Amino acid sequence: MKIMKFGGTSVGKPERMFQVKDLITMDNEPKIVVLSALSGTTNALVAIGDAMAAGDKEKAGNLIDTLHQHYNTFIDLLLSDEAIKQRAVNTINEHFEFLRIILKISFNDALNKDILAQGELMSTKLFSIYLDSIGLEHLLIPALDFMSIDANDEPQVLAIRAKLNKIVEANSSIKLFITQGYICRNAKGEVDNLKRGGSDYSASLIAAAIQASVCEIWTDIDGMHNNDPRIVKTTRPVEQLSFDEAAELAYFGAKILHPASIWPAQHFNIPVKLLNTMQPEAKGTIILKDADSNGVKAVAAKDGIVMVKIKSSRMLLAYGFLRKIFEVFEKYRTSIDMITTSEVAVSVTIDNTQNLDQISKELQPLGDLEIIAGQTIVSVVGNKLTEEKGLMSDMFSALSHIPINMVSFGGSTHNVSILVPTAERNETLKALNNGLFGLD
Ligand code: ADP
Ligand code: ASP
Ligand code: MG
Repeated sequence: MKIMKFGGTSVGKPERMFQVKDLITMDNEPKIVVLSALSGTTNALVAIGDAMAAGDKEKAGNLIDTLHQHYNTFIDLLLSDEAIKQRAVNTINEHFEFLRIILKISFNDALNKDILAQGELMSTKLFSIYLDSIGLEHLLIPALDFMSIDANDEPQVLAIRAKLNKIVEANSSIKLFITQGYICRNAKGEVDNLKRGGSDYSASLIAAAIQASVCEIWTDIDGMHNNDPRIVKTTRPVEQLSFDEAAELAYFGAKILHPASIWPAQHFNIPVKLLNTMQPEAKGTIILKDADSNGVKAVAAKDGIVMVKIKSSRMLLAYGFLRKIFEVFEKYRTSIDMITTSEVAVSVTIDNTQNLDQISKELQPLGDLEIIAGQTIVSVVGNKLTEEKGLMSDMFSALSHIPINMVSFGGSTHNVSILVPTAERNETLKALNNGLFGLD
């Protein structure tokens, strides 16, 4: 059985849904198809939630109306038979009715999660109705029946596995399952989600749960590129990556994959392919246990980083200093991305600033504290980078004009990370594209 996940742009227009149908019927292998919301929908739902949270019911209502209209136009182009069209209109109406009811009651965070879930619920229902209209046998299985996270927002892998396998086994004659990415239930049983871009994570978790032959991530680009194509013009696809390399790239900002989406597939050794819905013949990227070659593969950037610097004149020979620092971050469940130490100072970076005030307060007694926001981690990712002679000189001569606040290397052999002010991010990526890949 294989998993095929289609992102927002891959289902964002009726003609794309026709293409998705072609792609999922190309072979006879049983499959679970995981769909995102139509492109733009989750952003619109976020805006609706924000307007409701701000008490601006008029704005929220207008946004709901605009989105509803978009779906009606979509249905018009997706389906031709009038009766089936009506079925789709009625189905979508129910979801917009729900949004309009929320508008009338007092807003809270749990309701916001319900709002965000509407995108994937609608895209899968529309696709299922379209498949019905062409007589393609399939079963729509609600992700809310099997996808769950615990009180720490971590996926409950064993429970997901047990529930999903039960559903698949109970429908052994079905060769095509459709389900929602992104959405899940939390420890309280409420509707929740796996964070923005989470459909990739859903796909990988589902692949791990059913021991899929492959987890295919279909998107709008021909695989993982060597640099961020939104910023650098001349990028090229990377044919093969190891799980470790792909995980580092995803975590350090390559938007093509959700930051946590590699570990489930990696844990169960399921190959992941990144493929282009608009160009299915392109090779894309295959992600496997062992990559085919060493050296630098790609560069990625992660914004929204805060640098925390603690300087203590008493650190000299002071064992226990680092433990005290780490305990503060642990207490506030804030993970550290980069760390560098010198004899008298420690610098760390964090991306979760939710508890920064309390963290600062508790770090203060340990030394002089400096908090520097507006930073970006730029990561150079590859295999066995410690064996790459000349990598450091290539990197740093390319970056001779960039102010670098931190450097981290040696934690793994897959990654050299530097910290630069976000204002320097684009220039850093461009300079590395030239210095490491010879691309302009
Ligand atoms: P989907 O909606 O299919 O999940 P995303 O927008 O989440 O698609 O991810 C695909 C986008 O990721 C690409 O269009 C591209 O702009 C962006 N991206 C960022 N970094 C990379 C990279 N290194 N390689 C490929 N795409 C990248
Ligand atoms: N629809 C969700 C989002 O836009 C999940 C996804 O597309 O992966 O974040
Ligand atoms: Mg995505």
